[in-house]
Amino acid sequence: MLLTSSSVWWIISVTTDPEQTALNRRQSMAPSKNPESGNGALGQRYRAANDRTPQAVPRVTLVPGDGVGPEVTGAAVRVLEAAGVRITWDIQEAGAAALKKLGTPIPDALVNSLRCTRTALKGPLETEVGQGYRSINVYLRKTFNLYANLRPTRSFEGVHAPFRNVDLVVVRESTEDLYAGIEHQVTPGVVESVKVITARASTRIARFAFEYARHNGRKSVTAIHKANIMKLSDGLFLKCARRVAVNYKDVHYDEQIVDAACMRLVTNPRAFDVLLLENLYGDIVSDLCAGLVGGLGMVPGANYGEKGAIFEAVHGTAPDIAGKNIANPVAAILSGALLAEYLGYKDAASRIRKAIGDVLRAGHTLTPDLSGNATTTEMTEAILNAMTAVEVGRNSRVERTTG
Ligand code: NAD
Repeated sequence: MLLTSSSVWWIISVTTDPEQTALNRRQSMAPSKNPESGNGALGQRYRAANDRTPQAVPRVTLVPGDGVGPEVTGAAVRVLEAAGVRITWDIQEAGAAALKKLGTPIPDALVNSLRCTRTALKGPLETEVGQGYRSINVYLRKTFNLYANLRPTRSFEGVHAPFRNVDLVVVRESTEDLYAGIEHQVTPGVVESVKVITARASTRIARFAFEYARHNGRKSVTAIHKANIMKLSDGLFLKCARRVAVNYKDVHYDEQIVDAACMRLVTNPRAFDVLLLENLYGDIVSDLCAGLVGGLGMVPGANYGEKGAIFEAVHGTAPDIAGKNIANPVAAILSGALLAEYLGYKDAASRIRKAIGDVLRAGHTLTPDLSGNATTTEMTEAILNAMTAVEVGRNSRVERTTG
């Protein structure tokens, strides 16, 4: 299981598959000479990523992360393996864990691994507040041009939450805005942070949102902005969204100012379908949305680019509960289901989601954030058992049909 002496380069479930490299290239969203080149091109890439049939064993970078990261990514790996998703994991450290061991939060081995696999399942990484190194998440999204952060947020029966039947998707641009990291001190006591919005990135994310809506049976896209104040930057974002919207007559398009949108989200979240946001608003609003469906332990995420994808829960390292084996594993496992879909394992992803739904509905094995008293391990095992029950149910149906 551990192949080298270095703790930063472990490989589990080793494969010697000669098709590996070729598959890795295929499994990444095909690079486009012109990423803005028409709705059809992005649509095809998006569909291609979701309709693949798995052939050889793909290699995927696994970043356990900091805080609760190793606990919840470990749960996701167990569930993926039990669901029959065959992956060769290349385990890499990053963040505070890597800084402590290797003196850098972004080791070269991690970057090289991602360059090779172009796909990762990642735990949360610690970033100090107001000081310290730059966010590694921001670095990875920028370096690998993972411009679309997708956060599907839905209610599950059995979870006590302010609303039922919430089913919305946050699409967040994730390469620019105030996250561009351009900050400087003009003079002591005066600092500036630069908000960067470009037509290219705004158009690209709008297309992603509409393509996602069109191919996932979504009815509307709402662009959320503050263009009444930031007339140039948010104004440009809106102009681009409007220009893209005219090509998607089958998807309703509207706009809301971010503060009013927050109020509407906490009073009538069912009025929303796909939310299209810049980077900062998207980050904030997606945590708000998580609160509507039971908290941060419930919402998965994916970062898609033209050449790859990183899958990770919305939540952070949860330092208050780290190491206690009580973190809710659902968000990480659902992120694993998104990864499974990306690799072509659609049925496995459905089985994982069904098993999670069954465990939540039964309500016997829930972590403390869901008002239960189960550990992360117990809840993960309940999900594994529920998947086995689905399998047994299937097999017995087959026996009856053929017998
Ligand atoms: P957080 O998401 O870590 O925690 C907020 C609250 O939600 C805490 O009370 C925590 O216990 C709870 N929570 C989070 N995940 C949970 C889970 N799976 N089960 C049960 N409860 C859960 O946010 P924070 O405290 O603002 O950030 C902590 C650290 O995480 C910071 O260093 C921040 O930069 C980092 N962070 C990383 C990512 C990422 O890597 N993608 C995302 C967000 C925050």
